[in-house]
Amino acid sequence: MSKIEQTLSIIKPDAVERKLDSEIKEMFKNSGFSIIKEKKIQIEKSEAEKFYKVHETKPFYSDLCEYLSSGPIIVMVLEKENAVLGNRKLMGATNPKDAEEGTIRKKYGISIDKNSVHGSDSIDNARNEIDFFFKD
Ligand code: UDP
Ligand code: MG
Repeated sequence: MSKIEQTLSIIKPDAVERKLDSEIKEMFKNSGFSIIKEKKIQIEKSEAEKFYKVHETKPFYSDLCEYLSSGPIIVMVLEKENAVLGNRKLMGATNPKDAEEGTIRKKYGISIDKNSVHGSDSIDNARNEIDFFFKD
């Protein structure tokens, strides 16, 4: 059974800086996602720390939050059937070296930290992450 879902996607600073946002959005659209909300913003490190709170005990937490707040990002709400899992598949593995051919991270990712995109990893987290950026 499949159903329409929404998930949060972020085009991270490394990809925005290299002007890859249009190409990445095309990949979403070509995979059947509708981009129903989007905005280009830059966040404070303190906001990145809230967004990535689940990782606060990890050794890479501080660098990760520094990085996400280091330049403009594009946050989007993507919608299609089974969007959460579908987006994770389209993104590819966290480390671009391990990502499958045809995935965004394989194509554009530079390294495990500069891996070009974020995507929610569960329906609950998608809801929370969409609220985090788009609650009005
Ligand atoms: N990350 C990192 N070093 C690591 C693991 C993760 O810099 O050893 C960064 C990477 O940018 C990743 C983010 O932390 O996208 C969140 O990690 P997670 O395990 O949630 O990976 P994702 O869900 O983004 O694939
Ligand atoms: Mg994650």
